[in-house]
Amino acid sequence: MKVGIDLGTTHCSVAVHDRSTGKTDIIPNGFGKDMTPSVICFLDDGEILIGEDAKDMQAGGAGVIAASFKRSMGDTDFSVEAFGQTYGAERLSSMLLEKLIGDAEERLGGSIGSAVITVPAYFNDFQRKATIRAGEACGIDVLKIINEPTAAAISYGYNRAADKTVMVYDLGGGTFDVTLVKVESGNISVLGTDGNHILGGKDWDSVISKHVCDLFEDEFGVDPREDESAKNELIVAAENYKKVLSKADNVAIQLRYEGNTGKYTLTRDEFEIKTQHLLDATRDVIAELMEGLGIGWEEIDEVLLVGGSSRMPQVAKFLRRMTGKDNVVEHSDTDLAVAKGAAIVAELYASDKTGLTDRKVVDVTAHSLGALTVSIDGKRYINEIMIKKNSKLPAKTRKPFGIGPGNLTDRIEVFTLQGESRDPLECHVLAKMVITGFCNVGSGTTIDIEYTYDENGVVKVNAYQDGEQLEAAAEVLPEDISWMGGSPQDRPSDAVIVKNIAVCVDLSRSMTSCLDDVKGQISDFVNSVADENTNISLIGFGDKVKVVRELTSDPDVIITALDDLKVNMCGRGTDGSPLATAHSVLSSKPGAKMMLVLTDGIWGKRDKAVSESLACRGDGVDIMAIGFAEADLSFLRQIATVEEGAMYTALDRLGDAFSTIATAINTGATGLRQGK
Ligand code: ADP
Ligand code: MG
Repeated sequence: MKVGIDLGTTHCSVAVHDRSTGKTDIIPNGFGKDMTPSVICFLDDGEILIGEDAKDMQAGGAGVIAASFKRSMGDTDFSVEAFGQTYGAERLSSMLLEKLIGDAEERLGGSIGSAVITVPAYFNDFQRKATIRAGEACGIDVLKIINEPTAAAISYGYNRAADKTVMVYDLGGGTFDVTLVKVESGNISVLGTDGNHILGGKDWDSVISKHVCDLFEDEFGVDPREDESAKNELIVAAENYKKVLSKADNVAIQLRYEGNTGKYTLTRDEFEIKTQHLLDATRDVIAELMEGLGIGWEEIDEVLLVGGSSRMPQVAKFLRRMTGKDNVVEHSDTDLAVAKGAAIVAELYASDKTGLTDRKVVDVTAHSLGALTVSIDGKRYINEIMIKKNSKLPAKTRKPFGIGPGNLTDRIEVFTLQGESRDPLECHVLAKMVITGFCNVGSGTTIDIEYTYDENGVVKVNAYQDGEQLEAAAEVLPEDISWMGGSPQDRPSDAVIVKNIAVCVDLSRSMTSCLDDVKGQISDFVNSVADENTNISLIGFGDKVKVVRELTSDPDVIITALDDLKVNMCGRGTDGSPLATAHSVLSSKPGAKMMLVLTDGIWGKRDKAVSESLACRGDGVDIMAIGFAEADLSFLRQIATVEEGAMYTALDRLGDAFSTIATAINTGATGLRQGK
């Protein structure tokens, strides 16, 4: 049997989907409850209690308690000591899973062979792998790891007839997540996800405790927050007051401290005003996500509320105001939607050994994934992003990396980084891969590094030289990674990502009327591809070829040089071809070599150009060509070395062609050396 498991921070649930009836049911635990507390209690007689019983012990203060260990998943420093034994988060999760599965098997009267387990969207590679291992350790086949918001959206959307774009607004105890999902004939595509992982119900509780303590201090001159146990008691009480306010207009609050008793009333209106800034913080996350995806409110059909904190009436009110529509759906099973979604995926979406799936679910990456590389000036380390945040899964990117001249080495170390910053120390270092087996002639060479992110959000690294796959082996991460913040000089095994781009512009007479437009577009293009590891050269051609600027990493130098481009400066016709010249300019530096040719006409010596293009291809130079006006697309296809690298466009659409190419260059998707 296959089940879905919501392995939560505070509670877990298990669900099963029945294909024949289309119904999804929660499987109650041994106590007949839908949810099992994520708590484990170790007793001194060696007994281990899990779930409901352990929670009772927690309240009574007996034994050694492990709770909220999901937060420490993948963290090797975390452990719970109990009677001479040490338990890490993965082991604890495995024990909890075993209990959940055992209870469910008893209830179902059959054995469970496989499961889909959910994780928060922000879980990184470590945490996902640890979750898979925890499942496998208790003898089940982990079909898939899916993100909690995706699961919630699936349980809500999989059998809806209408196609919809849905926003999943998940406000939990300590985290906030927002995910945009498209539901189309039962297929689910996640468009993007983002979150704030230090914002949640706890912050609302704190507002209440602060408010009460301020009033108490005004009245009695003493502050209950000065006493640790009074403070903790109040935090627990505040959560209850908050829950009352989800149902009632006001709540009566009593606080006893040092012989004084304060009595106060908090109205829901007051509470909502005092916590508005917290809702505003969720709005900021939403706005950034929507802006990044280019999606407006008018495109969102429904907002789905999940997470315990979205039970506060202010949340739905706030979202209705924001969407301007009455399309905010309070999900009937806020707490169980995740397990149900996982069960549906286990039955309908996850391919089993037969490889068959009824429906598709496309998820995205919650973080960017990069490689540690040296900046072109050799002065510092940077995180070169390989797979951007919110890329569709599975995702794959291949980029060329240079090994500088002088660095005669037989190994390259690739550190995979998770995070958005250029600064590696602000990212999470996931793994160290060592690449060997390449030939480095000592004058600098280029190898391609490929990242693959699979459907479970797990990362793989491969490397190639001239299309041949190289050895790539994982090594244990060094404990001290502070050197990533320093100067790279002493490490010969570092890789540098260098992109060299030659922009070749037709300057024949026919360009007279449009050269200014073309210059403007080139200037935008240069700005969009420029970074410290990109060199650009500017070449003009007509009957002759002129290198206007050699390769430089300063975009302003190129933009200024555009002024020097004049019609007829290389002759009035197009008897020359810039390919050989650009080829030799590009060969002066290691790294990726790309050429962009712009032309508005038919060249005089086309055969020569085609043979020059073949020489470029043999040398790993990527040629892209944009034509307009009189240009001939079939000729451009002959000289382009990159699939889809030849484009014919109207002059007023030139900007679109440039931005397609800029995106391909920035994401390493120019079809580089994948063979054509
Ligand atoms: P997580 O997924 O982060 O573990 P949950 O989604 O279970 O958390 O939500 C827990 C949070 O929901 C807690 O902060 C709790 O106080 C809050 N919560 C639960 N029920 C209500 C309610 N009726 N009104 C307001 N907040 C609630
Ligand atoms: Mg949750």
